[in-house]
Amino acid sequence: KPRLYSGMQPSADSLQIGNYIGALMQWRDLQESYDAFFSVVDLHALTQPNDPSELREKTRRTAAQYIAAGIEPAKSTLYVQSHVRAHAELAWVLSTITGFGEAGRMTQFKDKSARYGTDATNVGLFTYPVLMAADILLYQTDIVPVGDDQKQHVELTRDLAERFNSRFGEAFRVPKPVIQKDTARIYDLQNPTSKMSKSAESDAGVLWLLDDPSKSAKKVMRAVTDSEGVVRYDRDEKPGVSNLLVIYAALTGREITSIEDEYAGRGYGDFKKGLAEVVVSEFGPVRERALELLDDPAELDRVLAANAARAEEVADRTLGDVYDKLGLLRRV
Ligand code: ATP
Ligand code: MG
Repeated sequence: KPRLYSGMQPSADSLQIGNYIGALMQWRDLQESYDAFFSVVDLHALTQPNDPSELREKTRRTAAQYIAAGIEPAKSTLYVQSHVRAHAELAWVLSTITGFGEAGRMTQFKDKSARYGTDATNVGLFTYPVLMAADILLYQTDIVPVGDDQKQHVELTRDLAERFNSRFGEAFRVPKPVIQKDTARIYDLQNPTSKMSKSAESDAGVLWLLDDPSKSAKKVMRAVTDSEGVVRYDRDEKPGVSNLLVIYAALTGREITSIEDEYAGRGYGDFKKGLAEVVVSEFGPVRERALELLDDPAELDRVLAANAARAEEVADRTLGDVYDKLGLLRRV
């Protein structure tokens, strides 16, 4: 089976609906036909301010949400990034073949560092894409299913793999990004021109997987729309309504036009009520299953440990080969 790699940061207590639609739904389907590695990338999460006492719990919660959303740890390798030391080691190696200007062009770095301000921006945020390249390359990955915000990072990963291979000899498979066109980007409900994110400044426009369903329903009802009053898709003129349509279509598997037809001649209130029901019925069961798994953290930790052992075997093989090719003296 071809290899698949993807991951998410444990940067909040809950995942948001963009993570679910843009990533988890694809992961669930793709795990059938790929040898899939799904990681909770806790080392990446260190690039943002973190309360150490909360990070451990966020890591477990993220893993539990993967499983609740349908990732099967017996079928796919679901593990925590910091459990496999090779990630940090390969990241160092790759940083030595990454150009300073090349890393500086990454838009996620530019966005996040602008948000934090120069003083609060750290070097880890700058080298974030290099660590991500290490994640992917360690597993000889064929495809990387991500939202389109991560496309540039996967392109960098490809460049680094090709560069290393041509300088030192074939050590890496060159991966391809897989981006679901229609649902590549879910926007903030209050600010429908910026991406919904776990780390958004305000959570008024973020739908959380683990929130009380009634709270999510309220957020849908309060979503920003426009004054036209017609439920129709138009990304430029009607970003708010278009975003709600995309969410509605993704969660129900329906075409956008069929939803437009259903709500023709009715107001935004009806449309939002319909979407709120969809959100509640989709996330209710996911939330319950995740909370159940979190009731037994010892069992969850055991599953993660077994999966980490599986991941480590593959990762260590790649790293050993890389060290040999670089001419590092092996400890005998
Ligand atoms: P953070 O704000 O901490 O960066 P995030 O919500 O952007 O959190 P990540 O952990 O960075 O989440 O990304 C996890 C996965 O979810 C990636 O594949 C990313 O492309 C996808 N993703 C994140 N936000 C969205 C979104 N709004 N729409 C679609 N996909 C998304
Ligand atoms: Mg992100």
